[in-house]
Amino acid sequence: MLEVKNVNVYYGAIHALKDLSLKINEGEIVTLIGGNGAGKSTTLKTISGLLTPKSGEVKFNGKMTNNLRATDLVKLGISHVPEGRRIFTKMSVMENLEMGAYIRDDKKEMDKDYQKVFSLFPILEKRKGQIAGTLSGGEQQMLAIGRGLMSRPKLLLLDEPSMGLAPIIVKEIFKIISDINESGTTVLLVEQNANLALKLSHRAYIIRNGEIEIEGKSEEILEDDRVRKAYLEG
Ligand code: ATP
Repeated sequence: MLEVKNVNVYYGAIHALKDLSLKINEGEIVTLIGGNGAGKSTTLKTISGLLTPKSGEVKFNGKMTNNLRATDLVKLGISHVPEGRRIFTKMSVMENLEMGAYIRDDKKEMDKDYQKVFSLFPILEKRKGQIAGTLSGGEQQMLAIGRGLMSRPKLLLLDEPSMGLAPIIVKEIFKIISDINESGTTVLLVEQNANLALKLSHRAYIIRNGEIEIEGKSEEILEDDRVRKAYLEG
């Protein structure tokens, strides 16, 4: 479904992604794990068209997307839920969801998707008239994911959905990510919480200094000594 091949991304003189390659097959949950500044968010931004690589290829369902704008990528079926949630804090929950559907005009189908989001996150239906900035951290993360789903993505990019949340809420959100995947959406999950992310995902990539260091099946990576030392213990 998605193929990133030898991609190089720079911020001015900073070489943030170095010949980075990864693949995502339809139906998978793939996780990208790494420490602070490793290049995780940069990878997602490159896939969703917020950054343009200097060289290399990004292909989505066989189509080169390197030079497409983020809006075009949403239309093709890629939705990016950014780090730090970035919901519209002064708008209501419902208005935030409507913003997620801005590329659409199929009212009937959109209504179905609002219902789908509310069945995944019943709390959002209860709070639909509430100003989003007054939601709890966990509810804001749910809203960010719900908004991301409103473009009806084929591939959902999630940037650190567990950040700053209590363990019990993180568990709830991870369960919902698994439900979203089971209902047919492919997921690329960026996480610092390596343990949980590896338990949830099918395959994983470990990124360090802008390079993929290790890749493989998540269950095998969980047992990898290098990964255990660097990301799972202490
Ligand atoms: P974190 O979890 O801390 O967000 P990350 O793995 O997502 O880490 P990136 O945000 O992708 O890391 O950053 C990769 C590298 O690019 C880092 O060295 C970072 O300092 C640099 N970088 C990121 N954004 C910018 C920017 N807007 N301008 C300049 N350098 C940047």
